[in-house]
Amino acid sequence: MRLTENLETHACQKCQGGRKHLQTITLMTWLGDDLITVPDFPAWVCDLCGHRLYDSHALAQLSLLLNPEAGTPIQRTLNDSHKNLPANLSPLA
Ligand SMILES: [Zn+2]
Repeated sequence: MRLTENLETHACQKCQGGRKHLQTITLMTWLGDDLITVPDFPAWVCDLCGHRLYDSHALAQLSLLLNPEAGTPIQRTLNDSHKNLPANLSPLA
């Protein structure tokens, strides 16, 4: 039994007729308020409809690079658990 991932092309899930080839494109993503670009990022691009699907493995590696704390265990003090305010609910002045 061979996995389909071993093939060089994938059938396009969007147009059902094209084939997706692994290419390198420039990925643009938001990191907080900053728009960053990642050149030569691997992505599967359909040769018929142009649909792009970023390589999932590369995306996982990128998320680790962009979030240095992702691989470290979260250490929280349980002392002030009664003040459990979400960090993203800072009041606007
Ligand atoms: Zn397609």
